[in-house]
Amino acid sequence: MTDDRTSGLMALERDVSRDLARLNYPPQNWVPRRVGPDGQPLLDVLVVGGGMCGQTAAFALMREGVRNLRVVDRAPTGGEGPWATFARMETLRSPKHLTGPDLGVTALTFRAWFEAQHGEAAWAALHKIPRLDWWNYLLWVRRMTGVSVENRTELLRLLPRGDVIEAQMSGPSSSTVSARKVVLALGREGSGAAQWPALPSFVPGKSNAFSRVLHANDTTIDFTAWKGKHVGVLGAGASAFDNAGSALEAGAAEVTLFMRRPHLPQVNKSKWTAFAGCLRGLQSLD
Ligand SMILES: Cc1cc2nc3c(=O)[nH]c(=O)nc-3n(C[C@H](O)[C@H](O)[C@H](O)COP(=O)(O)OP(=O)(O)OC[C@H]3O[C@@H](n4cnc5c(N)ncnc54)[C@H](O)[C@@H]3O)c2cc1C
Repeated sequence: MTDDRTSGLMALERDVSRDLARLNYPPQNWVPRRVGPDGQPLLDVLVVGGGMCGQTAAFALMREGVRNLRVVDRAPTGGEGPWATFARMETLRSPKHLTGPDLGVTALTFRAWFEAQHGEAAWAALHKIPRLDWWNYLLWVRRMTGVSVENRTELLRLLPRGDVIEAQMSGPSSSTVSARKVVLALGREGSGAAQWPALPSFVPGKSNAFSRVLHANDTTIDFTAWKGKHVGVLGAGASAFDNAGSALEAGAAEVTLFMRRPHLPQVNKSKWTAFAGCLRGLQSLD
């Protein structure tokens, strides 16, 4: 990082500290302490998933004086969410002006972070946010807000125990904890996970096709191994194009996309969620 970028970011960090102090962040914890059914101190909130939503949920809770919480994630530090793992697009699909992880603190917006390092003219010229810039920004927000994530800690089971929830976890802090509330911020993995079509040739061990078929969510695809090869991609959505592009850039001779639809999708159904009011009211729209 150049001296200008470093000093710009340091100045912004002073602004953030001042803004958070003026908002009395983090306030003292106000929730009365309780003991769980196991005789151990009860957590007020267990946040599972330390990606974009998990860290923002923890920031929001701490801002409201709920500080007896833990955030766990099964990924290693810095490997939470798709940004630095299996997402392969150069830039975010979202418009650059989207806010959210800042929770309304101006100095914590992506724009403030970007302008502090590159200036206002660079922001005006920016079309879309580079993917890894977004990830570095999220990690910066996490640091500035004091959210700490316990990595390599996986939630295995949730069990109701009277008026609390018991969470069984594996990992370095392998344990069973009880919490008043659990926030599941598991991302797409938590809402269905990666889907494989049920084709006979994909059954592990049943055919050698399986070893040559990879899922877009696979973090370990070595695109250089396909140099000069013909690659087929099942699907023609955003990730299909990202992976096709990665294969071609790594030297694949040809990539063919296969899709069931007669036409490429023309409408991005997530587009309206860029409006905070739409997102908040989504569940009550008819
Ligand atoms: C290729 C791609 C491009 C995208 N582009 C955009 C975009 O441009 N703009 C946008 O807004 N969104 C985009 N998204 C969606 C993006 O995933 C979300 O916006 C964002 O990551 C959601 O944050 P999250 O915290 O809900 O989920 P994630 O960031 O996925 O975080 C979930 C976390 O939960 C952890 N976890 C899961 N199960 C467990 C468990 N049992 N125990 C412990 N931890 C667990 C995971 O390790 C992960 O770190 C994109 C997604 C993909 C895949």
